[in-house]
Amino acid sequence: MSSQDWGYSVENGPATWIEKFPEARGARQSPVDIDTSRAGSGGSAPPLVWRYSVNHPRSVVNPGYCWRVDENGYHSELRGGPLGSDVYKLQQWHCHWGAVNGEGSEHTVDGRSFSGELHLVHWNMTKYNSFTEAAGQPDGLAVLGVFLMVGSKHEELDKVVKLLPYIMHKGDKVTFSEPLDPSHLLPRRTTYWTYPGSLTTPPCTESVTWILFKDPVQVSAEQLALMRKLRCGEASCGEEAMELLHNYRPTLPLGNRELRDYGIH
Ligand SMILES: [Zn+2]
Repeated sequence: MSSQDWGYSVENGPATWIEKFPEARGARQSPVDIDTSRAGSGGSAPPLVWRYSVNHPRSVVNPGYCWRVDENGYHSELRGGPLGSDVYKLQQWHCHWGAVNGEGSEHTVDGRSFSGELHLVHWNMTKYNSFTEAAGQPDGLAVLGVFLMVGSKHEELDKVVKLLPYIMHKGDKVTFSEPLDPSHLLPRRTTYWTYPGSLTTPPCTESVTWILFKDPVQVSAEQLALMRKLRCGEASCGEEAMELLHNYRPTLPLGNRELRDYGIH
């Protein structure tokens, strides 16, 4: 097997994942297209509430398929909305993007793509003891999805984007202490769609309650361009065929899963 088991190239891209990761064939896969006409009302759920730590060291990592910010175990939590009485802890957040503006989001809305999608990954600390344990359970993870559209520079996100030149290759990592508030990555209005799904990267485990904000947030074209410069291989691999121009999985059927709508559009 090559050093790169999976990725987004023709050789190792999403169409090939089912060969190595059987769960990727399942009926609860993500992403999906959000058909807004199919979304049922969420009714009177309690509000979605987050309480995020701002002042602690974080790491920005290039795992070979995106950039990812690790929260390093500091306490940040999400509760309410579709999550019942369980409390979910923020583990990491990362981004998906496309080769050109106007594509790059994993989820689509009525067939429309956005230029990127942020994922804030939380695990159920009420029921499970670790992220790894939770990631294998049907109610183990809750991911907030935020669509990115091209517009003005995103100042909070720039605290990470400006570090990307230091993590160009797979395995690179930098730690930073600049205060950062993950809640500033979310849109102002808390209106969202939710459905049961999976991780969108191998092993594509069906453990995610998806919460997708309806309102996109803006990032600049320059910020997206910096993301596309990341490489999916190690520095020693040479420079050819290592581009990470896009890293989104195409949508899969919603099937008979329930899609719910919280808040007016
Ligand atoms: Zn993701």
